[in-house]
Amino acid sequence: MRKMRKVILSEKEMPTQWYNIQADMPNPMQPPLHPVTRQPVGPDDLAPLFPMELIMQEVSQERYIDIPEEVQDIYKIWRPSPLIRAINFEKALDAPVKIYYKNESVSPAGSHKPNTAVPQAYYNYKEGVKKLTTETGAGQWGSALAFACGFFGIELQVFMVKVSFDQKPYRKSMMNTWNANVVASPSNLTQAGKKILSEHPDSPGSLGIAISEAIEAAVSDPGTKYSLGSVLNHVLLHQTIIGQEALKQFEIAEDYPDVVIGCFGGGSNFAGISFPFVRENLTNGKSARIVAVEPKSCPKLTRGKFTYDFGDTVGMTPLIPMFTLGHNFMPPKIHAGGLRYHGAGPIVSQLLKDKLIEASAVPQKECFEAGVKFARSEGIIPAPETTHAIAQVIREAEQAKREGKSKTILFNLSGHGLVDMAAYDQYFAGGLEDFSISQEEIEASVRSLEVVPA
Ligand SMILES: *Cc1c(COP(=O)(O)O)cnc(C)c1O
Repeated sequence: MRKMRKVILSEKEMPTQWYNIQADMPNPMQPPLHPVTRQPVGPDDLAPLFPMELIMQEVSQERYIDIPEEVQDIYKIWRPSPLIRAINFEKALDAPVKIYYKNESVSPAGSHKPNTAVPQAYYNYKEGVKKLTTETGAGQWGSALAFACGFFGIELQVFMVKVSFDQKPYRKSMMNTWNANVVASPSNLTQAGKKILSEHPDSPGSLGIAISEAIEAAVSDPGTKYSLGSVLNHVLLHQTIIGQEALKQFEIAEDYPDVVIGCFGGGSNFAGISFPFVRENLTNGKSARIVAVEPKSCPKLTRGKFTYDFGDTVGMTPLIPMFTLGHNFMPPKIHAGGLRYHGAGPIVSQLLKDKLIEASAVPQKECFEAGVKFARSEGIIPAPETTHAIAQVIREAEQAKREGKSKTILFNLSGHGLVDMAAYDQYFAGGLEDFSISQEEIEASVRSLEVVPA
């Protein structure tokens, strides 16, 4: 049969529902707990932060949830995204594998993140919210939400971790172009920020501090709510448009993956590509392996502990049942900023605990090597986060070669690296390090948790 290079769906073929894996999980996840009362959080606890529609999606047991037409219309600016057969990359690897990738870098912000930014902005707009706050590390989430808020006339205040604010000026320029207001965090706009600045005027900031500032700014103004780009159930739900499309595209290609791979920060792009395939495993007799790939320097899935922990450093969020390195864990400064998170989404954590998915950890230099190999064969320069998925693809291909077994691989190309070229420069100059984390370090960090056993 002729090799298919690319499978494109028409607008009319774009899925009109997200897939909610909570309907099919053999063991439901344990409930998030209120940080003070330690009781399961209810909708009212979350209402100051999120619109009710998103809170209902967070706990929904419905298998499919309709994508509002207004959201579909905006998705169609770049969706359906292409499924591409990486024929040149296959040749470069010289292994008995077929490799497909779902190209999420085609969105205006350059990653999968607008898939949830757009519905989040939409549901806030429907509830009359005039302003959103959020945090951003390297700037990918902030830029996706800035892009999305523009469609609904919502003002956006982004707290950007100071060190990135200084080092990654172009993400900030993108947010400004899309009309968002960006400040370096810690900032003078919040009590939390002022307190840290008075104690440490030169603080480089952290995601934990930026989250505290964004939450404080949201709860202290009735017309303002807060938005998060990963980890939570509703965020993972919105990303399943990726895998829903991919399943249709494999049908057209008359093929099916043996392995589905996504890089892992909080779990959103991984869930997006893989949950519809997990559903096929659970309900339709399929048996694809599902692999989440994290940095070796931030190994919550492969070496973390499954327990209740806070989502942020300061301890303002609910306690979440998840694989974690401890909320005080400070990941080394690798370039894949989007993967430097201490925990993992609760659904993904439960699936891993139940062995319905696998996890793998790869070091930074192997990732950049894989990213460059991919760029030189397929053309697209992947985001540093995405190179983790590609490194795993190469490991799978090498294994297939050793075992003389053929294999069909699907991975999610979560974003392009065109705003991250300084990281590639550093790699070419030989300036990148592989960080290793000792077992004692992990144990000490996890032991410091005030643990509520999960
Ligand atoms: C943010 C980001 C990630 C990591 O976040 P997840 O929620 O785990 O998907 C991965 N790739 C890219 C390109 C990103 O921007």
